[in-house]
Order: sequence, then C-alpha cells, then structure tokens
Amino acid sequence: MKYWKKMSANERSERIHQALSENIDFNTDASLGYPASRLDEKVFANESLFLKEMPVLQTFIANPNHIGCHTFGTSEFAFRGTQEIEREVLKMIAIDLFKANEEEGFDGYISPGGTEANIQAVWVYRNLFLKQYNALPQEIAIIASEDTHYSIPKASNLLMIDFLPIEVDFNTRAPKTESIRAELKKALSNGKKYFIIVANMGTTMFGSVDNPTLYTQILEEYQLPYQLHIDGAYGGFVYPFSEQENNINFTNPQVSSLTIDAHKMLQAPYGTGIFVCRKGLINNVLTKEAEYVEGLDLTLCGSRSGANAVAVWTILTTYGPHKWYEKISILKMRTNWLCKQLDSLSIAYFREPEMNIVTIQAQYIDEKIAHKYNLVPQKHNQENQWYKIVLMEHVELEHLKDFINEIKALQMQMHS
Ligand SMILES: *Cc1c(COP(=O)(O)O)cnc(C)c1O
Repeated sequence: MKYWKKMSANERSERIHQALSENIDFNTDASLGYPASRLDEKVFANESLFLKEMPVLQTFIANPNHIGCHTFGTSEFAFRGTQEIEREVLKMIAIDLFKANEEEGFDGYISPGGTEANIQAVWVYRNLFLKQYNALPQEIAIIASEDTHYSIPKASNLLMIDFLPIEVDFNTRAPKTESIRAELKKALSNGKKYFIIVANMGTTMFGSVDNPTLYTQILEEYQLPYQLHIDGAYGGFVYPFSEQENNINFTNPQVSSLTIDAHKMLQAPYGTGIFVCRKGLINNVLTKEAEYVEGLDLTLCGSRSGANAVAVWTILTTYGPHKWYEKISILKMRTNWLCKQLDSLSIAYFREPEMNIVTIQAQYIDEKIAHKYNLVPQKHNQENQWYKIVLMEHVELEHLKDFINEIKALQMQMHS
C-alpha cells in the first residue's frame, strides 16, 4: 500500500489543518463571488474550542464545496486544499485497494452515494457508445443480475436505455449462463449492439459476488462491444480483504470502473459514495456549459461537501490497511459463528464466502422473531422468501446468541 497508511491523531490533524489553510477562508478572506459561505454561525458555532480537536467537524463548518471532478483538468482554486485530500482518498482506493496502474492513472470523485456512482458509470458508457460508435440509445442495453441494486433500473430509466435482468440460481445467487445467452439472443434480435455490464461485488440482499467473466466471456464470443462496471457499493471495503486472490479490480483489463460506498461498511457520514474509472472515460460526460465552474463539470451532482472527503480520509488513515483487515476479520468470524449455529439447526441460508451477510430462507424464520431482531426481508410483501442479517460493527455475538436461542426454543416447542 503506497498511499493508504495509518497515521497518528496529530499527523491527521496537522494534515487537515494544512488543507483547510490552503482553502479560501470565508471568515477572513475577501471572497466576493461565491454563492456560498461557512455554515450559518447562529446555528453552527465555529469558534468553539472542541472543534480544534475534531478536524472533520471543523471542515464541515468551513463548508468547502468540491463541485466538479478533481482528478481531471483544473478545479476551483478556492478549495484546492481539501480537493487534494479527496485525491488522496481516491488514490488509496483506486491504486492501493483496487490496484489501478499508477502511470495510467484514473479518474473519480466522491458522490452523494452508490446510486449516483452507478448512474455516473452508466452515463459515461452510454455517451461513449453514442460518441465513439455512433450508437443510438435504443441500441444500448444494460446487463446485470436480478439481484442487482435498484439504482441500475433507475439509471436505465433516466438514461433511456434498456435493462436486461439476468436470472440467478436460487441457492447460489450466481447469474445463470443460460439466462445470459437467452437475454443476449433476444437483445440482438431487438437491435441491441452495445452492452453495459454491471457485476456486483456484494449484492445488497445476499452479499453475492458475481464473476464478471460469466458475462464477458459470452460477449467476447459474440464479439460485441461492452463496458464493465463493478458495483462494490456494499462489498468494496470487505471483499478485497479476503484471503484468496481475485481479479475483480483494475489488474483485470475488462474492468473499467467501480462504485464503492464509504457510508456503508466504513461508517462514514452519508454522502460518501465513491466512483473511480480508468483514464479516458469520464470525459464522455463533460458538461461544457458548466462555464462558471473552473475546469467545467464531469460529475452528475454539482455542489457537494468537501467535509465528506475529509471524513473518509480520516477513517482510512485512522485504521490503515492492517487495522481495517483486522476489523473485517472479526466481522467474518462472527459471520462464521452464525453460520455454524444455523447449520446445527438445519436452517437453509446463503452466504458468500468471505462476506459478512447471511441471508436466511424465510420459511425457517418465525415472522415475530424476524420483526423483533429487525431482519430485513427481500420483499416487503407476502412473496418474501428471504431475510438478511448484516454483520456490521454493532451486531455482536450477544445479539446473535439471543436470536439463535429464540429460534432454538421455538424449534423445541414445535417438536414437543
Ligand atoms: C447500497 C447500495 C447501492 C446504493 O447506494 P446508496 O449509497 O444507497 O445510493 C448500490 N449498490 C449496492 C450493491 C448497494 O448495496
């Protein structure tokens, strides 16, 4: 890891104060042109002493605007200090975690969430096909499994390109090869020529990780142009820390971009979805009309808080990669424990190895227990077949024990 390093509280504080000092200071500098300021001081007191100890909150109150994309061309001069912090976060993720080649570089930004990062990806590829292949929108389609997050049908709806959901195997949650072939045949006969693949690094409901080769192999067999996006919104801070080698990162030439949310596993504040892509792609969504923004705009959202970048940076440098690995390992151990208990009770469930989600077949779970422990159903109606447990930081063995004991008690009751 070249960029992602653990730092002491002092080092972090110094780095953030330096970044803030390089930004425009709405308290002291004459800044006449921005439709922005520090947060309202009647509500957000900014002279309080305790803030000096909390650089993230200090940044929140200083209120830097990270509008635009800071890995490409020029950016707003006024917020250059904290923009550099955002670039450092992106390097930790793109280069260290997902192994982008440093010479080739990458582009990206911290978006309001995984939804926007996914839409940004589909937007980039739709425009790439329109511009470089003279494609018509109706000739482009998105391919992803039926377990894919609803942000992908949202992107399909917004960008007016069809979404072809691929059936998954009920037990393994793996996209079915027959379904990919069938959907592709149908699509070709409907005039589709260009494909945007979204492969999941951890689906929301199951934590299942799609092997992207399932898709790319078939598209290459048919010699069809495609782009591959990885949705690691949930699993991006878990799956890469598994023991086994995997190729779902930028060492795989087929992977063009990635989504990874810091506001899920990383426990960063909401507003920290992360989009990263290879160089030479993001320029497909340049909005030239954004003339008042220095460097124009390559993002979907426009204004966004620089405090979010500082929050993610602070979490990553507080842990460093080794402590993060340890934290994830503990969550996996709890997951293993839960799976063992379920096995001993003969309860059927799905768990992706190395992930911290356990999704239990609903027929084995009493509705009252599911409700009491706030298990999340796959569907909020009569058709529900699954309940999930996400082994987050706050889900401790104590809670899991109580849950398992209640199931046991119920089983005994029914068998007596
Ligand atoms: C949560 C999630 C998203 C959407 O993220 P938001 O930050 O809620 O917009 C996208 N994909 C997956 C796999 C997710 O789990």
